[in-house]
Amino acid sequence: MKTGIYPGTFDPITHGHTDIITRSLRMFDRVVVAVAPNPSKHPLFNVTERVEMVRLVMKDLPQIEVTQFEGLLVDYVERSGANAIIRGLRAISDFEHEFQMALINRKLAKTVETVFLMPSEEYSYLSSTIIKEVARHGGALTEFLHPEVARRLNDRIRSLKS
Ligand code: ADP
Repeated sequence: MKTGIYPGTFDPITHGHTDIITRSLRMFDRVVVAVAPNPSKHPLFNVTERVEMVRLVMKDLPQIEVTQFEGLLVDYVERSGANAIIRGLRAISDFEHEFQMALINRKLAKTVETVFLMPSEEYSYLSSTIIKEVARHGGALTEFLHPEVARRLNDRIRSLKS
């Protein structure tokens, strides 16, 4: 059984992330979405809230497991016996950082491969950061987020403003 690990911050999960997860199931029998706390990114949602939203969006796909992980990604990948790390590549601008991460991870753990998947064009401009910016300015979120995730994002932004 082939297992892939899709790590990220998911603050919050967007249709871009979902697109990558769905595509990855063509290559892996099982995919673990591993949510990192990433406090240095000052996420809007805590890691438990982010895990809960990914679970909610993925609830109809039994091949998907959602978990949180701490520490070094490659340690987690080796411990869990997974076959590869999955990352999404939106544009050339993602490439340099992703390339660097993949090579560092390979140095740290020789047998851990990274697989890059490209999203559908309609999501190639989408990022959680942009979506939070749209939400802060009251823009419509329906094209980018699961309705419940959009509701939680709007609630969070409202509560921060008040
Ligand atoms: P990180 O902080 O690790 O970059 P993110 O949650 O921002 O976490 O992203 C997780 C992974 O998903 C990354 O590989 C990122 O490039 C990818 N990703 C995010 N949004 C999209 C999208 N719209 N299309 C394709 N890949 C995406």
